[in-house]
Amino acid sequence: MNLHDYIRDIQDFPKPGIGFKDITPLLISPEATAFCLEKLSNSLQHQKIDKVIGVESRGFFFGILLAQKLNAGFIPVRKPKKLPFDTISASYELEYGTDTLEMHIDAIQPGDKILIHDDVLATGGTAKAVCELVEQLGGEIVQMNFLMELTFLNGRAKIAHMPIYAALTY
Ligand code: IMP
Repeated sequence: MNLHDYIRDIQDFPKPGIGFKDITPLLISPEATAFCLEKLSNSLQHQKIDKVIGVESRGFFFGILLAQKLNAGFIPVRKPKKLPFDTISASYELEYGTDTLEMHIDAIQPGDKILIHDDVLATGGTAKAVCELVEQLGGEIVQMNFLMELTFLNGRAKIAHMPIYAALTY
């Protein structure tokens, strides 16, 4: 199966000049979703995972599927003021300004083996901020995986020390 067939290019979304990769054709296909889940979980090569982090909001889809498949807990990382309990936060730079991500303060115990999942690795700012959240609570990042990596944006450079896997690349 060629997963590229299930990704739709949308020009000028969410802003003029941006080419957006839309994963909804993949999600609507149970075969493509199952195939992708196999690829993502097989990439771990039976390494033990205690908790899977899914990054708001498109990281939640496969994040929860991966957590169930790996018999691990699921942790949502969210935009500011969405989580109800006490949080820790990490900020990252955007083209104009900064953005912040939050996680519950009791989500990770020191030494927990963590898989971080998001839909897209673009410039790497989001991924780096999530690493900082895990490190603040003493978690051990086993892998960061993504449905797709936009290699031309070189996001890997920001998280160069991490094991990274992407089910498809552009
Ligand atoms: P980064 O911080 O620049 O690496 O951007 C990654 C974040 O932006 C991820 O959470 C993605 O959900 C989102 N993102 C960036 N580009 C795309 C895209 O083309 N399609 C879907 N999500 C995207």
